Amino acid sequence: MMGTSTPEQVLGVRRGRVLTPSGFVEADIRIDEEGTIVAVDPGACEGLPEDLVLDADGREVRPGAIDVHVHVDEIQGRFVSREEYLDAASVARRGGVTTMAMFATARRGQSIREALVDRERDVLNFTWHPTHWTWHLTPRAWGPGTWKDLEELAGLGLTRVKIYTTYRRQGLQVSYDRLRKILPRLAGLGITALVHCEDPEVLARADGTVPPDARPFDHARLRPPEAETTAIQNVAALSLATGCAVHVVHVTLPESVDVLLHFREMGAPLTWETGMHYLCFPENVLRSEGSEVLLCTPPFRHERAVEGLRERVARGQVDLLASDHCPFELDDKLAGDGDPRRTPMGIPGVGATAPVAMELLERKWALLSPQGLQRMLSEAPARLLGLWPRKGGILPGSDADLVVWEERQTVACGAYWPEVMDPWSMIPIGRVPSHVLLCGQPVLWDGQPLQEDAGWPLWDNRFVLEQMENP
Ligand SMILES: [Zn+2]
Repeated sequence: MMGTSTPEQVLGVRRGRVLTPSGFVEADIRIDEEGTIVAVDPGACEGLPEDLVLDADGREVRPGAIDVHVHVDEIQGRFVSREEYLDAASVARRGGVTTMAMFATARRGQSIREALVDRERDVLNFTWHPTHWTWHLTPRAWGPGTWKDLEELAGLGLTRVKIYTTYRRQGLQVSYDRLRKILPRLAGLGITALVHCEDPEVLARADGTVPPDARPFDHARLRPPEAETTAIQNVAALSLATGCAVHVVHVTLPESVDVLLHFREMGAPLTWETGMHYLCFPENVLRSEGSEVLLCTPPFRHERAVEGLRERVARGQVDLLASDHCPFELDDKLAGDGDPRRTPMGIPGVGATAPVAMELLERKWALLSPQGLQRMLSEAPARLLGLWPRKGGILPGSDADLVVWEERQTVACGAYWPEVMDPWSMIPIGRVPSHVLLCGQPVLWDGQPLQEDAGWPLWDNRFVLEQMENP
């Protein structure tokens, strides 16, 4: 049926090399009308009408990637990150992402409930959704109102909050003392804390050593490795002491991984992520002219650290990969004349993580097997979101969030928006999605992104708003 019109709902994927949790199998995938996988077997598509079957023709079929760290429409000082939800989701789908978790960050004076309602309304303005989505909640205050909201929202399945140990001026910083009181209450509500770990005192000391009018490379001195390792040591100890599940975002250093492993071995309920940018780009790239467009926080690290982090990924000691997608327009990245104190922090990545990881971690560097990478891109993120095994794997009973990958020498993610600097456009990749299904519904077909008239992928968790009283 390839080349004929696109079906609204696919009920079978035939002749794929299907990546299951135990590796590749030659199999067909049978999908029911609700978009649930019912069988992964040779011959599972027998008897289905031809026009409802996608012929994978020997290509790889992998579970959709789940990106748990996506910033959309986020305020940073006087800057706002580049996109609306639909832009990010469109790019995500072209990179094989089928679910993304974004941040509902309370603005100043706004309750977390109001922040969530705002963000959901933004998303619901669109009648078409190229990915499934969910939210992490970032409260700005921790008074009784926040706890009441969190209790209600946890009951609706939103069981993750984002906490920063830094960013005092932005009104986001939570001290370790505060954290010691917050974490047990979160544990009581079954909420996982996603923690950005940088020690504020180390950062303040570092700031005093870097003169005004700093250059891009100074970002590495302004936010040194000790800031990360000190905060991670403290936060991991608090997770152990309180029993609260903590997910440490964007770990960049091998020493950080070693500390986290140590505390997990002692029983702390810890997980952690890194981003492909910390495995690809050493800090020296920030010495080149114009490198302010690559500035993100935490900064890129020394080559030895990059090497050590790769080794730990190869040993299976990093749970998952997430993009920390946060693109700014080129003009905004250049607005500070290269001074990291005046430059908005963040780079794109939601559409690049999966194809770049497949190219580098699996093929070029041969650090991970396909199933090992699948755990980092799909299974572990699904577990963090409380969605495994419904999402994150190709198994009977799971949602048919499927990506067919075809061999094609090209570049990742790049050139979607000329006004955004995209570091991933420099890395050639060998596989791109030809087809993407969300619960069996096509959102990418023969390499072509489908648009609004193609349907409305359904997901029954999608509208927390509708479940809330008096939104
Ligand atoms: Zn982030």
